Amino acid sequence: MAGAAMHKNLYFLVLLPLFGCAAEDLGGDPNGSDAGVIEADAGVEVPVPDWVDPEVPEGLIPATEGTSTAPEEGDFNWSEIGPLIVGGYLPRRDLNWDEHPRYGTARILDWSDSEECVCFDVACATCSGADCSAQTCTYDLNDHHTLTKYHIELQATEYEAHTLNFEVNISADPPINYTDIQDVLNRLERIPVEYWYGLRIISEFGRGMQFLHASYFRGGAAAYGSMNYIDTQTAEIPTLLHELGHTFEQYTRIGNSPILEPQSNILNPIWRNAIRADNNRTSRYGNSNEWEDMAEFARIHAQCLVEGTLDNLESRSPERFRVWERILLNGTTIKP
Ligand SMILES: [Zn+2]
Repeated sequence: MAGAAMHKNLYFLVLLPLFGCAAEDLGGDPNGSDAGVIEADAGVEVPVPDWVDPEVPEGLIPATEGTSTAPEEGDFNWSEIGPLIVGGYLPRRDLNWDEHPRYGTARILDWSDSEECVCFDVACATCSGADCSAQTCTYDLNDHHTLTKYHIELQATEYEAHTLNFEVNISADPPINYTDIQDVLNRLERIPVEYWYGLRIISEFGRGMQFLHASYFRGGAAAYGSMNYIDTQTAEIPTLLHELGHTFEQYTRIGNSPILEPQSNILNPIWRNAIRADNNRTSRYGNSNEWEDMAEFARIHAQCLVEGTLDNLESRSPERFRVWERILLNGTTIKP
């Protein structure tokens, strides 16, 4: 049942709602849509997917109709929100990472602009420094954590002209055993293309994704996410998608002058009012505060994208859905 053709259909179906492209555009005559086309080697015209270089609307993300844009005092009051937990229903099934379609091909690049030593292959037989090996070509994150750095390119399966590069770091000292660079590449290929821009953001503004030893983490966190890094002690895709949620949120909130105007009220009150309008909860962890609610929504949104249930998510949480898709769209301004 899950043949290649099946996956391809699924992929088209689930992509369509994301940036509001009408279903008939791609379903009927691909060349008749507004999307541009390129001439592939075989002379076949390939429609440009909406996630390649979409148009981002001018100005800030609009507030929920009838709500204020002024930040509120105090913590978010969950007691006024209905008890339904959307994450209890969606995604319908927790897919293992290797059940995701492969959205792209990841490879280790043999060049880098980094000032640190960067490995050019899995074993680090070649690197940007003089002394190449996964143990010697490293950089010190701090006094206790030394990492091996790789420069990675992801190339989209559906549209091969779309590539994006970013940095991945694997703890060398202390060593880790929950993942390695090859395992990381296999997993990153299963992240939906719409979320790849977050990998670019954390590399442009910081040091990229860092797979660290557990001793780096305090207070039980599995990972930390921001627009400057994703620091993690797990390679589980749901956790990485959650952290990418924080990355995209910060990118909208802090902005990227002059490309993207900052929107300081995106969490408070824009997301708070979206929660109130939807009148439900995203997940138990999302109940912590509005930014964890948003990061959990990002995870669930990506998982629904993978399994083809975005419509269901939109009907349950329409205001969060509207704001989140625009935050994702803002992320595309980072460009590959
Ligand atoms: Zn979080």
